[in-house]
Amino acid sequence: MFRTHTCGELGLANLNQEVTLAGWVQTLRKFGSITFVDLRDRYGITQLLLDETQHSSLAGSPLGREYVIQATGIVSERSSKNLQIPTGEIEIKVGKIVILNKSVTPPFTIQDDTDGGDDLRMKFRYLDLRRQVVKKNIELRYAVNRAARNYLHQKHFIDIETPFLIKSTPEGARDFVVPSRMNAGQFYALPQSPQTFKQLLMVSGYDRYYQVVKCFRDEDLRADRQPEFTQIDCEMSFIEQNDILEMFEGLIKYIFKEVKGIEYKGEIERMTWEDAMWVYGNDKPDIRFDMKIANLKSPIKRKGAVEAGGWIIANAGFPVFDNAETVLAISVPGGATWTRKQFDELTDWVKRPQIGMQGLVYIRYNEDGTIKSSVDKFYSEEKLLSIASYCQSQKGDVILILAGREEKTRKAISDLRLELGERLGLRKKDEYTLLWVLDFPLFEYSEEDNRWVARHHPFTAPKPDQISTMINHDPVISNPELYLEHPYANIKANAYDMVLNGNEIGGGSIRIYQRELQEKMFDALGMTREEANHKFGFLLGAFEYGAPPHGGIAFGFDRLCAILGGSESIRDFIAFPKNNSGRDVMLDAPSTIDEKQLRELFIEIRTEK
Ligand code: ASP
Repeated sequence: MFRTHTCGELGLANLNQEVTLAGWVQTLRKFGSITFVDLRDRYGITQLLLDETQHSSLAGSPLGREYVIQATGIVSERSSKNLQIPTGEIEIKVGKIVILNKSVTPPFTIQDDTDGGDDLRMKFRYLDLRRQVVKKNIELRYAVNRAARNYLHQKHFIDIETPFLIKSTPEGARDFVVPSRMNAGQFYALPQSPQTFKQLLMVSGYDRYYQVVKCFRDEDLRADRQPEFTQIDCEMSFIEQNDILEMFEGLIKYIFKEVKGIEYKGEIERMTWEDAMWVYGNDKPDIRFDMKIANLKSPIKRKGAVEAGGWIIANAGFPVFDNAETVLAISVPGGATWTRKQFDELTDWVKRPQIGMQGLVYIRYNEDGTIKSSVDKFYSEEKLLSIASYCQSQKGDVILILAGREEKTRKAISDLRLELGERLGLRKKDEYTLLWVLDFPLFEYSEEDNRWVARHHPFTAPKPDQISTMINHDPVISNPELYLEHPYANIKANAYDMVLNGNEIGGGSIRIYQRELQEKMFDALGMTREEANHKFGFLLGAFEYGAPPHGGIAFGFDRLCAILGGSESIRDFIAFPKNNSGRDVMLDAPSTIDEKQLRELFIEIRTEK
């Protein structure tokens, strides 16, 4: 046996026992003939004491950082204890040491607060993975995986693998493709998700399917995306939307309990997409804090929204508001006392190209009840007070107002809201708030192609009461200017997203399961029947053999782990991630392949861009 114990388990209860440990030398501290070694393995760190004067066998043992050693000795009480670590009250007085393997000096220190930069750590990821902080993330990932599997197994889901080499049917993201040697000139695609397979499994009668599965999308990598990522992918038959919501609320609550020990209290709020956009300017709102958006230029009242008061700021002679398509405001607690400098900084913040606003108007609603704004010239005190009341502001708040084009302004105010939530400490790391966002639009309009595109994916069913709208209308958009008036613009999808602290952690839908409706969907997306058959004939065919009503969901497993681990980055929770340009810097992939391989694949490389 290499070891009797791990480096994470010995304590005062083991005093005077002879033990053998094996692990890596994290640090060496030499004091004359005495050397202290922090010995590390997966489970923790134990201090070794090597006294050369006692044991000649230790004399001159040339240890170095990251050497793999085996040490036998007696568990002894430490004189200076380290109560930060579980083994910090003891040390091992070593009698015998064996060097199992040497190490060259590692390129960075293998400790929680390492001196290694990002690139270096990725290049030597196998060393980075030795660090306890990284190990904790990888272990958390496994805990989430195991909890998900346990729950789904209890609920009679079965894990069925689906193929990775499939057919390219780009809809949404770009496919990664794989050339086929045995079929000259032909390519497989890697799945963007097992979507059609899980639906086929429903047709086959496996009424509860799941898989913790890799998905591949060849997207330009926005911040914190990976070209290959993992989903907890699920599908169920004979269900309606509410069945899915309840089943997967159960899953997420179970994961919280198992992984974090948190009993998620209370109902999970359900909000329509329209309300989310209206009240938070965003389809994945962080509802841990209020700061709801007031629409100063619209008469419509929305559920949960700040009370609408019509065109409250219109036509006061302030051209910025008068001419803007939309004017949106948030009321920020405590903001009335901000300094001029703070407002200037915030104004610069909204003017940054990423936000792209022209400026920021503010109204201070002071504690003493007085009110002052940066546009006093145009608005009387009375008018400002009515705006404050309309925004449901409290004394001490500042009202921040943005004006401009509808979509841009909405995004900007939503970003501003999140930024202030962050700055004011309202987005607490240890507070978890779940939310369902429901009833997304089924279609989005593509200006480029003058046609509809599926907002979720083409297998998503419309809300049951809108199926007839879809069937009975021609999807063709005769006048692009008036696309919003086309009946399809208002069709809502029977789709749902689960949102956690402002992050979409899962999404899915009730599916189309009749051939006629699925064909209509492909028509709407501008596919000819021929094309639809070429790409999805297998699914349309399957729908003719008794496809049951079904629906499902997929959770972004990497993201879920990152949030539960309190991290911004999914990379920290993936053993071997890619960098922002989609490269594996450790393997140096992607890379060229040699001429012989290319020839076997019938591929010639074109050099022009
Ligand atoms: N396959 C979908 C996705 O990857 C999820 C689902 O509809 O179940 O987004």
